[in-house]
This record gives sequence, structure tokens and C-alpha cells, in this order.
Amino acid sequence: MPKAIALYSGGLDSTLAILVAMRQGIEVTAITFLNHFGCDISDKSSCSKDPFSAAQKFGFEVKLCHLADKFMDIVKNPKFGHGKNMNPCIDCRILMLREAAELMKMRGADFIITGEVLGQRPMSQRRDTFPKIDREAGLKGYVLRPLSARLLKPTIAEESGLVDREQLCGFHGRSRKPQMALANEFGLTEYPAPAGGCLLTDPIFSYRLKELLKHNPDPSIKDISLLRLGRHFRISENMKVIVGRNERENNVIEGLAEKTDHLFWVEGYGSPLTIICGNATEDDINLAASICARYSDAKKLPEVDVTVSANGVKYTIKTPSADNAVLNEHMVQPEKKLKTASI
Ligand code: SF4
Repeated sequence: MPKAIALYSGGLDSTLAILVAMRQGIEVTAITFLNHFGCDISDKSSCSKDPFSAAQKFGFEVKLCHLADKFMDIVKNPKFGHGKNMNPCIDCRILMLREAAELMKMRGADFIITGEVLGQRPMSQRRDTFPKIDREAGLKGYVLRPLSARLLKPTIAEESGLVDREQLCGFHGRSRKPQMALANEFGLTEYPAPAGGCLLTDPIFSYRLKELLKHNPDPSIKDISLLRLGRHFRISENMKVIVGRNERENNVIEGLAEKTDHLFWVEGYGSPLTIICGNATEDDINLAASICARYSDAKKLPEVDVTVSANGVKYTIKTPSADNAVLNEHMVQPEKKLKTASI
């Protein structure tokens, strides 16, 4: 029985690609890649969906693989450049294929499957990009794209008769209608709405990441996780203040904080949890307290008692709330400024 390794996000296209291969008797092992930028399968709003439900229903195995630092390296220095934002989609596809190629060797599989559809995405799913990606991954001729295969040059698996090209599809472009009809044929009734990509395709997130990398080329997982939430203020070269915007964000900040981190809040009022990232001077700590006060329900008081906690010690800073000029000076955000009248 021919064996294949499939790149699998849990989305409609990658699931269908697997089912199209399986219906002609190919044994498929799926591999779901995770990275620090949204492909967290526990987060239903992220680009990777639950990869296990279709696998259970249709009977294929799923392996998870976190790309970790390898992914960070291509985000910082992509050989083929970034997309519209910080998304290095071509390098990302190449990296995923290289990892899949390792599994292909280990499993003695014959080829690789992806759910890519010709013309669906402007950067990575073009007729001239597919062969480039395959070559760079050392997989020339070994990547079968079952959903568009009939529009593409035959792969080794098709030429050698392992795969019947006639049973593959010729989908093209951004419409999902053909995929939805095919899903219906397979009895695939539950599938996620199409995702725009990982967090790196988001302009605000990308702006924050670029700003972080400018000041800290080797950010920690915590630094990257904090980019997803809160309001960010750059205070100095190696110090930022992050202010939670709601209870959920406050809880996440609390969960990410380490014992040595400075945390700020206003007791007895609706208050954001505020955290300092990096090394802070006393002036920085006072500034962080005034920013925290500004986003609390006590902001109109002439002076606000802000509680600070670090290294197991708690104390209070009395401070007026930061005004708009201070916020504008430090806010990490593209262009948009607050009016400079205070509070
Ligand atoms: S959007 Fe691009 S960079 Fe992000 S996971 Fe998808 S292919 Fe990779």
C-alpha cells in the first residue's frame, strides 16, 4: 500500500487532500505544525483547528510538531521575504515540508501531500511558487497537491502509478464551493471557516513584533506571548510596559508573570493588571504606575494609590495618572495618537 505524509492544519483543504488520497487506498500519516504565532490548537480562534476530530472520524493518524526556534529564525530572516506583514509564508511552507520529509524517511513513506490550492493565496500558492518551494525543501517531484493536481505537472507518485491522477482534483482560485461540494460527498460536515493565516498576517501584531525585534533580537516566549494582548508602551531600549485591557487579559498577564516581574494594579477600583517587561529603573517603575493608574477607574483622582508587587514584596506608589502626551510618547502602535488634552 502506498504511504504518504500529509501537512495537516485541521482545516477544510488539508482534510480533503487527505481524504482524496485515502479514497484510492493510500495510507496517510498527518502532521500538524505548531508555532508561537497562533497555531495553538487549544485556541479555537487561531489558524490551526482541532486536528483530531476529522482524523478520528476518517481513521488517519495525526502527529504534532512544534517548529519552535526554527520558525523564529525564518520569521527574523526569511530567505524569500515576508508577505504583506511579518508572515514568511514561503519559508514557512519550505520548513514544514523539510520537517515532513524527515518523517517521510522515518516512516518509509513514498511522498508528501498538502492541501494547497492553486491560486488560493497570493504568495505561496502560485504555479511558479510550488516547484520553487518543493526544490528548496529537497522534495522536487515528491509533493502531491491532490486538490489541484490535475492542473499541475504530474508528480513522481503519479508517474510511477502509485497514485491515479484521474481520481485527483483540479481546483483553482479562492472559491470554496468545489471544496464544500467535495466535503459533502465525503460526509465531512464539520469544518472550520477559512483562516486568514497565523498571527503574523495581522498588521498590529506584526508592528508589535517588528518593534520588539528591533529592541530585542532574541525575545523569550513570554515576550512573544505578551504581544497578543494588552496595550504596549516602550519606555526604554530594554523595557516595556503592558497594560491588560480586560479581565481575560489580566488573567493571562498574571499567568505569564514570573516572580521577579513588577506587577501593578489599583486596589478597590476597576483596574488593569500592568506588567513591566525588561529591566526597570525607579523612574520607569513610577511611570509604569502612572500608566496603570490612567487605565483604572480611579484615573480622575488627583493621586492614585497603585499597588506594586515584585519578588514577593508589595508596596504602594502614589501617583497622578499619566496624561495623553505621555501615552502618545511611549505607545507602541502605528501612527494613531490620542488627543493631547490630558485624561
Ligand atoms: S500564515 Fe504563512 S507564516 Fe503563518 S503559518 Fe500560515 S504559511 Fe506559515
